[in-house]
Amino acid sequence: MAAQKDLYDAIVIGAGIQGCFTAYHLAKHRKRVILLEQFFLPHSRGSSHGQSRIIRRAYPEDFYTQMMDECYQIWAQLEHEAGTQLHRQTGLLLLGMKENSELKTIQATLSRQGVEHQCLSAEELKQRFPNVLLARGEVGVLDKSGGVLYADKALRALQDAIRHLGGLVCDGEKVMEIKPGFPVTVKSTAGSYQAKSLVITAGPWTNQLLRPLGIELPLQTLRINVCYWREKVPGSYGVSQAFPCFLGLGLSPAPHHIYGLPSGEYPGLMKVCYHHGNNVDPEERDCPEAFSDIQDVQILGRFVRDHLPDLEPTPALLEPCLYTNTPDEHFILDRHPKYDNVVIGAGFSGHGFKLSPVVGKILYELSMKLTPSYDLTPFRMSRFPGLGKAHL
Ligand SMILES: Cc1cc2nc3c(=O)[nH]c(=O)nc-3n(C[C@H](O)[C@H](O)[C@H](O)COP(=O)(O)OP(=O)(O)OC[C@H]3O[C@@H](n4cnc5c(N)ncnc54)[C@H](O)[C@@H]3O)c2cc1C
Repeated sequence: MAAQKDLYDAIVIGAGIQGCFTAYHLAKHRKRVILLEQFFLPHSRGSSHGQSRIIRRAYPEDFYTQMMDECYQIWAQLEHEAGTQLHRQTGLLLLGMKENSELKTIQATLSRQGVEHQCLSAEELKQRFPNVLLARGEVGVLDKSGGVLYADKALRALQDAIRHLGGLVCDGEKVMEIKPGFPVTVKSTAGSYQAKSLVITAGPWTNQLLRPLGIELPLQTLRINVCYWREKVPGSYGVSQAFPCFLGLGLSPAPHHIYGLPSGEYPGLMKVCYHHGNNVDPEERDCPEAFSDIQDVQILGRFVRDHLPDLEPTPALLEPCLYTNTPDEHFILDRHPKYDNVVIGAGFSGHGFKLSPVVGKILYELSMKLTPSYDLTPFRMSRFPGLGKAHL
C-alpha cells in the first residue's frame, strides 16, 4: 500500500487489459501512476482473462481499422520489451453469404484502407480449408493481418512493465469510494489515495463506480460461454495446419457472429464461441446451467456440426467470461461530464482486447489533458441521450 500523503498523477481503477495499457502509457511517460484491482492477480472474474483473443484489421468502420495500425506497432513493441511472444499471425477468415451487407462493408473498408486481403469463392475455400463446410452462397474474405493475441501473457507483460517503469500495481484492493475534485481522492479496502486525475476502467463494474458520481452509462453485462470443441483428429484445426482464426457473419443458425481460433491453447481443442450471451450481474455470473440448457451453446453445436465437421459437436470445455456492451457496440472513451479529471473507458462490447494499446493511449492522453491522437466522436458518451452535462 502506498503512503497516503503521495499525490499521484493518475489513479487507474481496474487491472483488465484497458486499465493495464492505460497505466503502461502513463508510466512510460514518467507519470506517477497507481493501478488498483479488486481481485488478486491473475483473476478470471472480468473480461480480460483466458489465453487467447483475435486480432484483426477487418472492421466495417474505418476508424477501428485505422486505429489497428498503431495497435499492431504497440503490440510488437510490448512483445519486444517483454521478450516473449504475445502475437501469432494466422490470418482471419471472414465467412458469410456473398450478399451479406456487413461482409461487403468490411471488404470495402479493407480496400479503402489498403489492407491486404483476399476474396475466396466457395471452391477456393474448399481447396484451401477442406475441413470447413460452406452452405450454398457462402464465401470468404481473408484478412491476412489477422491472428491470435496471447491474452494472459499480455496482461502479465504489461503488469511487469508498469512496475518496471516505476508504477504501482495493487491487487486485492477494491475501490469503495471516489471523492471527486482536485485532487481526486479514492478510498479502497486497503487505503486512501489522491491524484490529479482518475481513470475508471472497471469493465462490468463501471456503473457501480459511476452511480455515486451522478451518471449511469447504458451498459449491458453479458455472460459469454467460451466453448472448446474436441478435434476428431488432434491438431487438424491447429496453427501447424495453417488454420486461420475465423469470424462468421450471419451464418445459419446464428443471428449473431460466431468466431473461432485455431487449436493450440488446449491441445486437441478448438475455441469456437458465440458473440452474444445472457444478461448477468457481474456479482452473480456463475450460473449453474447445464450445457444443453444454454441456447447459445445449442446454436454453436449446430454451427459446428454443419461447418466444422472434424470437431465433436458438443463442447468439451466451457469457461465463462463477461462482455460489457453499449447499445451501438462502440466504446466509451470520454471524460466525466461534470468532473473533467475523471476519465472513463468502458463498453468494450466484446471486441476491445486487440484495440487496447490505442485505447490505453487515448485514456492516458485524456487524463493528462493532452489532445487525443484520434477523433473521439464515435466514442463520446453524449451520443447516448441524457448523458450530457445538462442532466447532472
Ligand atoms: C469470451 C470473450 C472473448 C473475447 N474475444 C475477443 C477477441 O477475440 N478480440 C478482442 O479484441 N476482444 C475480445 N474480447 C473483448 C475483450 O476481452 C474485452 O473488451 C476487454 O478484455 C475488456 O477489458 P476491460 O479492462 O475493459 O475489462 P475487465 O477485464 O473486466 O477489467 C476490469 C477490471 O476492473 C476491476 N474492478 C472493477 N471494479 C473495481 C473496483 N471497485 N476496485 C478495483 N478494481 C475494480 C475488475 O476486477 C477487473 O479486473 C473478448 C471478451 C470475452 C469475454
